[in-house]
Amino acid sequence: MDNKYDVIVIGAGMSGMAAGIRLSMYGKKVCILEKHIISGGLNSYYTRAKRDFDVGLHAMTNFVKKGTKRKPLTKLLKQLRIPYDELMLKEQVGSLISFPEKQLRFNNDFELLRTEIAENFPHEIDGFNKFVSHIENFNEVSLDNKTYMAKDVARTFIKDEYLLEMIFCPLLIYGSAWENDMDFSQFVIMFKSIYLEGFCRPQGGVRTVINLLLKKLEDTGCELKFRSEVKKIIKKDNKVVGVMLKKGEVLYADKIISSMGHPETISKVCEESELKDISSEPSIKKPSIEVGPLSFCESIVCLKNKPKDYGINETIVFYNNSDVYHYQKPKSLYDNRSAVLCFPNNFNDDDIHEGMARVTFMANYGLWKEMDKPLYRQKKELVLKDSLNIIKSLYPKFDQEISFSDVFTPTTIQKYTGHFDGTVYGSTDKLRNGKTPIKGLFLCGTDQGFLGIVGSMLSGISMANLYGLMDSEVGVN
Ligand SMILES: Cc1cc2nc3c(=O)[nH]c(=O)nc-3n(C[C@H](O)[C@H](O)[C@H](O)COP(=O)(O)OP(=O)(O)OC[C@H]3O[C@@H](n4cnc5c(N)ncnc54)[C@H](O)[C@@H]3O)c2cc1C
Repeated sequence: MDNKYDVIVIGAGMSGMAAGIRLSMYGKKVCILEKHIISGGLNSYYTRAKRDFDVGLHAMTNFVKKGTKRKPLTKLLKQLRIPYDELMLKEQVGSLISFPEKQLRFNNDFELLRTEIAENFPHEIDGFNKFVSHIENFNEVSLDNKTYMAKDVARTFIKDEYLLEMIFCPLLIYGSAWENDMDFSQFVIMFKSIYLEGFCRPQGGVRTVINLLLKKLEDTGCELKFRSEVKKIIKKDNKVVGVMLKKGEVLYADKIISSMGHPETISKVCEESELKDISSEPSIKKPSIEVGPLSFCESIVCLKNKPKDYGINETIVFYNNSDVYHYQKPKSLYDNRSAVLCFPNNFNDDDIHEGMARVTFMANYGLWKEMDKPLYRQKKELVLKDSLNIIKSLYPKFDQEISFSDVFTPTTIQKYTGHFDGTVYGSTDKLRNGKTPIKGLFLCGTDQGFLGIVGSMLSGISMANLYGLMDSEVGVN
């Protein structure tokens, strides 16, 4: 049967593509279904005003040098059989955590952060070093890890709340589905991937990664169908049997790996016997699984000059204007008390003609959603103005002259990803082992507990290895 597959993968984001490659590499008949016309998901791309933009990418985490063994990036490349050099990675110049009273610098050499903490918080350096050892020895990727909060663990090593807030700030904004804290396994993943490994960027941005994955999908014979939104996941006797697309087509498989998100996936499950009644039903129905509260708005601006001309020597700045870092859903449209400032072409060896900046604020999906179009446009202007003001406050030489700008909001994220409430880091109800209560239905990506480019691809690989290749000799490593 043409419409019967060994495995159907829902979503051609990083995790879905990686899962598809891994499965088809071992001869499985696989089909990836993607509702959009291009791949990448949260890490996709677009072109405006003759310029190439990445949707999400600030930086790739988990940088290690070529030849480094048994680290997430090199494991991932080995599993997908992609040579390291093909990513054409450029390392960050350096990053900064900027609070009112203190600043901490870090780069891809962890010793810089250790030295900065020793100088700024000498009373805490012993505790910090012990905490780092604890983190290094923790197996964050074990699928059996229980969920418990990271700040409770951190406080057993570090007493100074100011330092704690500073250490947590980049890790929360780059990967926590929880407000003001995060699951400890997730914390360790983020600590290792950002502080112990570091930031880099493929030359050519996310297109470089996506093109490598598309080529692998083609080489391994994996089918990828665009404009193929899954409307229903069909089950019979609590076992998946296939999916129904929005356009009415039904495809069959007894294993489905979904990267849509936990609540989003469960909301689409229906009994085979109900199928005939659903053609007129809306495809979105929220289940009782927790939807993460956190979403963002972001300004993307092209600067008239290169970042260095404005005295910008950082790749990423984690800015916070009070002693406490409020990582939570704001009560207003967005929260300008803190921001991430990323200069995505300010990496080492960047060959650039103009500068670029991305400024990200935490934002409230519900408030953005209820606005009419004119007000929405007006508020986006406000976001842009605040973004430029923050750059100016940190870099007085910045003249605020820009040649292009774009702003996205939580409603943009909802529209393009299908994530309920435009949530970025998914549900707080993660399924670490990927298993849903329905036999044959598995999660990969953000809601399996791994995110970012590297994390989500590793998630796709490990779910494919565990559940799609169970009968073969391939294991998770
Ligand atoms: C603003 C922003 C900045 C970010 N910055 C970075 C960064 O700098 N570095 C980094 O490493 N990570 C970054 N991330 C995070 C990273 O993008 C994600 O963690 C990662 O891409 C998630 O991949 P995924 O495969 O799990 O899910 P997704 O990317 O969400 O992929 C899911 C796919 O499923 C498709 N889909 C959904 N519903 C259906 C359906 N019903 N039928 C068919 N297809 C469907 C979607 O269209 C999508 O393509 C950022 C994210 C955002 C939003």
